[in-house]
Amino acid sequence: MNQAASIPAFHVMAKPTGAICNLNCAYCFFLSKESLYPGSNSRMSGEVMESYIRQTLEAHASPEVTIAWQGGEPTLMGLDFYRRVTQSIERYRKPGVTIQNTIQTNGVLLDEEWCEFLRENDFLVGISLDGPPEMHDFYRRDKGGRGTFDKVERAARLMQREHVEFNILCAVNAVNSQHPPAVYRFFRDEIGARFLQFIPIVERTGDRSVEPERYGRFLIQIFDEWVRRDVGSVFVQTFDATLAAWVCGQSSLCLFRPSCGEFVALEHNGDLYSCDHFVEPAHLLGNILRTPLADLVNSEQQRAFGEAKHTTLPRYCRECRFLFECHGECPKNRFLVSPDGEAGLNYLCAGLQAYFAHVEPYMRTMTGLLEQARPASEIMEMLPVRFANAKRNDPCPCGSGRKFKKCHGS
Ligand code: SF4
Ligand code: SF4
Repeated sequence: MNQAASIPAFHVMAKPTGAICNLNCAYCFFLSKESLYPGSNSRMSGEVMESYIRQTLEAHASPEVTIAWQGGEPTLMGLDFYRRVTQSIERYRKPGVTIQNTIQTNGVLLDEEWCEFLRENDFLVGISLDGPPEMHDFYRRDKGGRGTFDKVERAARLMQREHVEFNILCAVNAVNSQHPPAVYRFFRDEIGARFLQFIPIVERTGDRSVEPERYGRFLIQIFDEWVRRDVGSVFVQTFDATLAAWVCGQSSLCLFRPSCGEFVALEHNGDLYSCDHFVEPAHLLGNILRTPLADLVNSEQQRAFGEAKHTTLPRYCRECRFLFECHGECPKNRFLVSPDGEAGLNYLCAGLQAYFAHVEPYMRTMTGLLEQARPASEIMEMLPVRFANAKRNDPCPCGSGRKFKKCHGS
């Protein structure tokens, strides 16, 4: 057995069914990856699964290790596959190490038996839901072209009833981005979700992408509602990541960190890629059945991939006052030319700038509260006071830069 060296925390996103999925969502970037493995049955063998678990647990020096499954659609492997996974984890887990099991699913196959298993093994489930029925069904359809809202909503309600912890993964696209309050309130009030991830759809062609400015407005409008009534009770990943950058100097989300490289993607056959967003031949690191996982994660190729995130930043980003909380966002989205003519500006930049500028005063306030060991949620008590004291011609306390009489925190 190869004894891998212990290295700091890294995250493997395993794709046990490769790109195979039981749905046909219009903007799924992964469906096209099926062509990487022509003729393959796209199912992870017991040998690859065992090797992934063993090597991941051996290589980590951290007290908590995440074992993550996503797709394609990982539930297509069937429950018995994951029962064997948990047995493997118990076989290789070091004493004192806590395991965070996660699975990202469209929810269609979840039933009571799945929920019982997920709850008993403390899985955190990410379920893909894009908002109310008319918004979700616009792009998220099955192979027959039928909307999937009813099935996904049923899964979310089932998990709630069965006390399975879940996140909502909402793809922000050309359609739902036009209705931020409706999307947010639907998740909070109708679904009862407490953990939300908003993931922008960015495609180089077609008309499904969220427009940059609209993405900014989407985040701002949801933030304005969240910061007045939901801090500490609803967790929005983007807002948490921004606050982490303010408080700790480093965002909690790879998109907004200075380097990439911590999040590798494992294909069904053991091939390891630099990132889930770069599952393509140029970013294949090797196969974990032939080269130790730790060596691949520590390889020169992966180090160069990680560093490219900051070495390729255009000057426009390097001189941006939001650099500490943005870092040029994800390299896969950097295909615009900056105002001073340099390639490599992020497609979402205009929206990101608007968002970061808007949340600045609130982030400053929450950072101050946390530095005084007070909960960030106290900001909700402070805001009405700031607004009550504002005069008509004062700058609006929300930080919009507009006069209070024009803005009123809207
Ligand atoms: S390429 Fe994008 S998704 Fe991958 S680690 Fe970097 S920022 Fe994260
Ligand atoms: S906000 Fe725009 S200019 Fe600033 S770091 Fe982000 S992508 Fe670059």
